[in-house]
Amino acid sequence: MAEKKKMKGSMITEFYKSLAKGKIYGVQCSKCGFFDFPPKTACKECGYHDMKLRKISGDGELLFFSSGNLPPKKFAKYHPYAYGAVELKEGPTFFTQIEGLDVSSVKRIQEQNEKMPMKVKAKVKKMAGMNIVIFRVVK
Ligand SMILES: [Zn+2]
Repeated sequence: MAEKKKMKGSMITEFYKSLAKGKIYGVQCSKCGFFDFPPKTACKECGYHDMKLRKISGDGELLFFSSGNLPPKKFAKYHPYAYGAVELKEGPTFFTQIEGLDVSSVKRIQEQNEKMPMKVKAKVKKMAGMNIVIFRVVK
C-alpha cells in the first residue's frame, strides 16, 4: 500500500475511481507496448512517460500463496487470509489477497500449493475503507 502514496496524476485517480465502479485497469506503454499492473506513471521497460489505461481481462494464474502472517495494521482484522502471487494473463505478477482457499492449517496451505498454478479471477473488494483488487479461485 506504500505504492499508493507514490502514485500521482489523473491516470492514477481514474484507476481508483474505476475500482469503485468495479472496473479494473492496468496500463500500457504507448511507445513499446509493455503492460503493467497496478498502473504506474512510467514504463518499467523503456522509461517512457505515456502510459494509457487498459482494462484487464481479470484472468490470471495463482503461482503460490501463504496465510499472510504479517498483514499491514489496517488489514489485521481480516487475518488470517490467503495472500499470493498472481500472474495476470496480460503478463505482470501481482501480490494480493486470494479468496476461496483454506488457510486453517500449514498442512492445508501446503496441499493447495502443490496444485499450482490455479486459475483465478480478479474482483474488487472493499477492505479497510479502500477498494482493493483481489483474486478468487475459479472452481
Ligand atoms: Zn515502454
